[in-house]
Amino acid sequence: MTPTTCECPDLEELFTELEVGEGPALEHAKGCPLCTAIIEEHRLLEKDLYRMADPLPPPDLVHKVMARVAAEPPPLRSELWTGVSILAVSILAGLGVLLSNDAALSGAGTGLARFLVDGKAFLEALLSGARALWNTAAAPVAGVLAFLLFTSLFGIKRLAGDGPTPSEA
Ligand SMILES: [Zn+2]
Repeated sequence: MTPTTCECPDLEELFTELEVGEGPALEHAKGCPLCTAIIEEHRLLEKDLYRMADPLPPPDLVHKVMARVAAEPPPLRSELWTGVSILAVSILAGLGVLLSNDAALSGAGTGLARFLVDGKAFLEALLSGARALWNTAAAPVAGVLAFLLFTSLFGIKRLAGDGPTPSEA
């Protein structure tokens, strides 16, 4: 009348007790390689089903991506800002030359003076100072302007695309 040591329980009973976490069928499975294998297979299948049913990425995925983005050097962004700042300086320098130029001054200068009535004296002093600078140092200023223009154009060209141009190939 001794119970057989390997009388496997019903699978349904085994899985039900697996959900609960305790029971005679589960106790039996601990000492039975056949039932242990069945439980392990069931567990893996459940894991796969859970993985397929879960559409969300791992919770640390966004953090990992952001860390990787932060670690990447931003060459394009820095080059863009270099190009933009150089271009802005070139435009400002060009405007300065335009204002200090006698021919352009007659039109733009009087317009500005009319617009800034209170600051007319200051404006005239500023313009005469710029004119004096242009008269005494036209060549260096022009050289600086040409350099700025060249570097800004070079920067824009680099932004447009690296590699040799068709004419150089
Ligand atoms: Zn068994």
